[in-house]
Amino acid sequence: MTIRPIEQIIRPQPTVEGAGVHLIRSIGTRQLTNLDPFLLLDHFESSTPADYRAGFPFHPHRGIETVTILRTGEVRHGDSLGHTGAIHGGDIQWMTSGSGILHEEMPVVRAEGISGLQLWLNLPAREKMIRPKYRDLRADKLEDRVTDDGARLRVIAGEAEGGRSKGPVSGLSVAPKFIDVVLPAGALFREEIPAGHTAFAYVDCGRVSFGERDRLQSVDGPALVVFGDGDFVRAEGGARGGRFLLAAARPLHEPIARYGPFVMNTAEEIQQTLSDLRSGRFIREEAATA
Ligand code: FE
Repeated sequence: MTIRPIEQIIRPQPTVEGAGVHLIRSIGTRQLTNLDPFLLLDHFESSTPADYRAGFPFHPHRGIETVTILRTGEVRHGDSLGHTGAIHGGDIQWMTSGSGILHEEMPVVRAEGISGLQLWLNLPAREKMIRPKYRDLRADKLEDRVTDDGARLRVIAGEAEGGRSKGPVSGLSVAPKFIDVVLPAGALFREEIPAGHTAFAYVDCGRVSFGERDRLQSVDGPALVVFGDGDFVRAEGGARGGRFLLAAARPLHEPIARYGPFVMNTAEEIQQTLSDLRSGRFIREEAATA
């Protein structure tokens, strides 16, 4: 049983997205175009309204899942099918765009500002045109537990601690494991990841050390830590502790044709998507809510 080594540490790059939201991006850049099956990772964090108030007005998606993990603040959302709501600090929205959804994601200006992550997960070719679906995972529905080693965990997808904790999201083809981890100074974390699955830790804040006890590598957030293959991810909280999202999933090894918010397998499918948008055939079915 081997500990996964750090393969790469990536410093997020400043990016302006949506109608003018200033954020930092670590997957979906020239340096790291994707990390199969992860397509994008954005981190937004600001208490200056000018950095985020423009938000993400109506825009389409096809072929992917978007996972929004809100740390602080509020984001109101609405879509072309009349599904509206708001997510607050601690909430997660897991949206399966499938064949197509048009939505807006608008941060609310508040004294505490806004912070969170948005991760895009690719859908396998045979599921790209499935019916759109939302999972609204509210903070009070997500179990927050402290392990014997002092790590605070919130399991979002898949299982943790050898099956002792289960996240609300399961049964997806790429078998994602997403765990929000808070490590106070000196706390330990060890989690099994199936060999061959892609795995990364995004350290939002603080300092976390990864790897074998005698070969620890310290990482100061914000940073993306990409792991090489192995059986476990092992982490220790640094002097003031830290927080990271651990994400792992089975790679798809399929061709990627990407055009902004559409991610398909071939250039023809992207052309078809643009033609569907022009002809009003982009929205196919009503989204399901769970
Ligand atoms: Fe979006």
